[in-house]
Amino acid sequence: MIPNNLATALNQRDNIDEQSFDLIVRAYKFASSAHQDQFRYSGDQYITHPIEVAIILTNWGLDALTISAGLLHDVIEDTSCTLPELEKEFGPEIGFIVDSVTKISKRLRYSGNESQVETLKKMILAIGKDVRVIFIKLADRLHNMRTLDAVPLTKQRRIALETNDIYAPLAYRIGMANIASDLEDLSFPFLHPNESRWLTKVMKEHFEQGEEYVQKVHHQMSELLNSKAVSFISIDARSKRISSLYKKLKRVGMDVNQVHDLTALRIIVPTIADCYASLGIIHEAWPPLPGKIKDYIALPKPNGYRSLHTTVFCIDQKPTEFQIRTKEMHQENEFGLAAYWAYHKSKTTKNYQEGNKVSFAKQSELDILNQLKNWQDNFSDGQLTLQSLKEELFMNRIFVITPTGEVIDLPEGSTPIDFAYMIHSDIGDNCIGARVNNKLVSLDQELVDGDVVEIITQKNKRPNKSWLQFAKTSKAKSRIRSALREEEDPTISTRARYKIIVIDQVGIISQITSIFSKNKINIVAVHSQSIKGTRFVHIKIIADIFTKDTAEKILYKIRENKNTHEVHYQF
Ligand code: MN
Repeated sequence: MIPNNLATALNQRDNIDEQSFDLIVRAYKFASSAHQDQFRYSGDQYITHPIEVAIILTNWGLDALTISAGLLHDVIEDTSCTLPELEKEFGPEIGFIVDSVTKISKRLRYSGNESQVETLKKMILAIGKDVRVIFIKLADRLHNMRTLDAVPLTKQRRIALETNDIYAPLAYRIGMANIASDLEDLSFPFLHPNESRWLTKVMKEHFEQGEEYVQKVHHQMSELLNSKAVSFISIDARSKRISSLYKKLKRVGMDVNQVHDLTALRIIVPTIADCYASLGIIHEAWPPLPGKIKDYIALPKPNGYRSLHTTVFCIDQKPTEFQIRTKEMHQENEFGLAAYWAYHKSKTTKNYQEGNKVSFAKQSELDILNQLKNWQDNFSDGQLTLQSLKEELFMNRIFVITPTGEVIDLPEGSTPIDFAYMIHSDIGDNCIGARVNNKLVSLDQELVDGDVVEIITQKNKRPNKSWLQFAKTSKAKSRIRSALREEEDPTISTRARYKIIVIDQVGIISQITSIFSKNKINIVAVHSQSIKGTRFVHIKIIADIFTKDTAEKILYKIRENKNTHEVHYQF
């Protein structure tokens, strides 16, 4: 049978039926015999690792197929088992997932340089095809990070760097913010050993000193809610994660006294109405700090995060942060995309993969997947660099609003041009101006959170080269570039026909044609004929010329030649 710790985790799930259980048992048996004589750096039997991965996936609420693939995730990479053997035993779906996980492990060796574009692309391809691959990869990485101490020193830093720079942001992006923070915190001591020791001490002292205060606030808060008859499920103190504390400290000159949310109180309530009622009660009791009220319920973060945040001058005027949310929001914030899977098990999987109408998937989930697909498409054009991908994946995001109230997710520093291309490539191409919050702005103005943006378009307008200087998203940039390239494409260009009468002499034709070539203009055809009984020759030139300005310029240059008698052109 299966080991106790996995059995315990499975028992806590009420939606694992007998058939699912059998599959998991089979996967366990197969994996444990495949890894039989293998050991981890820690000296443990190798099979302990896939078991822990399966337990993590079980706790995330994922289906039996994903849990089984988790048990099997290292058999292709680390044992003599082949993909066809695995497929024969467990079918193509598990085979595909395990194979994808293996490819990521093999090819993703991140050290922050450009040559890794191809491997990252593979990883993203796998994610785009089946998001369960990334769940397993995250669970795998989580367990590897928990046991990183046993790994040789020379490898530790590289693994921690990869975790911090690639896996944590990916987890965050698919709404698994808590897992992202776990991964960052686990990497932190390996990347910043001194700061880690210092901050661990700071947090410990703060927590010891602050415990009494938190108790007081906790007590007063529950009395307040009771007195106003607002029901709540729980009030918990949550201390700031060490890696997020470090990020904040870097912004405030490493001064711990500047950080007001070392401890925050998290209130879980039954309904959305209770969330706002609680917020009102808090603000009635204690004045809020300006600019610190965040309504992520009305405007969820791009990764789906929902909650109300506020910081108030609490007991003894001490700035204290509160986070208010429903139980459902809390669950989603913890597990992100995995939470959606928890509700919709294997039955719907097939639809999902085939890209049919997906009734269960939230729009935000589809958006993320579409965005991943979009990156992947752009990669094949060779237009995206690792840098731009990293920026998009990992950069801070803002959200702005269309006139019809749709929320658009953009990287920080985006401009109306990025917004326009995010709505539709035609809107981008035809953009001539923008209104932000009902005021006309220039196209290079940086957008900020909550801006209402309206794009003004004009038919047949084309992108301007200068846009490339301030467009931020790779989507806008690649679209502008390709539109500009289309304009230069000879197969669709406009042709100008020149009729020139010049004095006939040796080398006159090359004198004239060189005017075109010096201006990098492609000549399609040249024809010349002496005009009988005169000292003139008639030259006809057909050339690729796109604008009237260029045509005029060439006309002028030809006229400048002292042998020119007459020159005309027409498109
Ligand atoms: Mn593994």
